[in-house]
Amino acid sequence: SKTAYVRTKPHLNIGTMGHVDHGKTTLTAAITKVLAERGTGTFVPFDRIDRAPEEAARGITINIAHVEYETGTRHYAHVDMPGHADYVKNMVTGAAQLDGAILVVSALDGIMPQTAEHVLLARQVGVDHIVVALNKADGAADEELTDLVELEVRDLLTAQGYPGDAVPVVRVSGLRALEGDPRWTASIEALLDAVDTYVPMPERYLDAPFLLPVENVLTITGRGTVVTGAVERGTLRVGDRVSVLGADVETVVTGLETFGKPMAQAQAGDNVAVLLRGVPRDAVRRGHVVAAPGSVVPARRFSARVYLLSGREGGRTTPVASGYRPQFYIRTADVVGDVDLGATGAARPGETVEMTVELGREIPLEPGLGFAIREGGRTVGAGTVTVVHN
Ligand code: GDP
Ligand code: MG
Repeated sequence: SKTAYVRTKPHLNIGTMGHVDHGKTTLTAAITKVLAERGTGTFVPFDRIDRAPEEAARGITINIAHVEYETGTRHYAHVDMPGHADYVKNMVTGAAQLDGAILVVSALDGIMPQTAEHVLLARQVGVDHIVVALNKADGAADEELTDLVELEVRDLLTAQGYPGDAVPVVRVSGLRALEGDPRWTASIEALLDAVDTYVPMPERYLDAPFLLPVENVLTITGRGTVVTGAVERGTLRVGDRVSVLGADVETVVTGLETFGKPMAQAQAGDNVAVLLRGVPRDAVRRGHVVAAPGSVVPARRFSARVYLLSGREGGRTTPVASGYRPQFYIRTADVVGDVDLGATGAARPGETVEMTVELGREIPLEPGLGFAIREGGRTVGAGTVTVVHN
């Protein structure tokens, strides 16, 4: 049988973010290679991380790729998202639950639109610690140019409310490290050291009632339906009763795993697969929530404070008015909502506004919950629930 997961080191969730083609997936593969050589991880090649959604097993859309590894002091689950839209869905809605992020910036290209957007969105959802990987440093012919890019990145971070001068910026080459070049292997070690020391261990809400936003659903032949995702709060053991909100079923947990290893207890921050007794595969979907029975009440109406991205940030170029019906990405759910802007009745991109939203269906809501607003495939706003109306 499979070896059980033993919790020997604190667990954190991190992820790569940054503009397309700046080397996030290559760097992710390089990290696993360097740690595999240290004996605290398994090498995950580029192709395994960067698989296209349609290639994913059993027709399930996997739009978030996880790898796990250990450094000397910590156990990490690391997410690498294939496309820009996946950042919005998974990071911005809090589904990825990042405790820290590695911002990948190509030293050859500098800041690009998605670099800026990811930093802005990370700030909005409370990712407080960013470490910068100035990637492709192998190809930078001119040190001074790389210095300029570093300055530019620090300025961007400062402008978004991060301590831009204090943020670690490490010059790396994911590609050369992947090829085994010692100079660049060392650069990956330096990056991991920066993550270990700069990203603090977050507070975990272990005493709160269990809650897991469902990220994916799959069937294990002969065993039943499994839901996967990151535990938002609380703890869970085999035999515990849970409600699946959205599917309106109550059931019992019959199995619990993390990265293929059975575990005795899952807790806030863990990435888990939960086997549910007697639940048909098509009853549960991404966006549903598995929670301790009676601990959350779904609702449709809420008030929120929302920042509307400016056109320069990739948002709208025209104002919105009451009656606007965009998509709301809340945890892993994607729901249409009717916007009411109250007395002012309209708002412009670049503004922060109060709004009341009526969702197309009930979902578990609570004050403080972050969400993204999307329209026609792009992010137009990011907000926080202030009041839930029942
Ligand atoms: P992503 O879109 O951010 O995940 O970027 P990828 O990891 O897919 O890399 C995009 C391209 O940049 C690929 O052709 C990589 O081989 C190349 N690349 C990635 N890292 C490096 C690096 O450190 N140095 C150089 N010279 N090229 C790199
Ligand atoms: Mg990639």
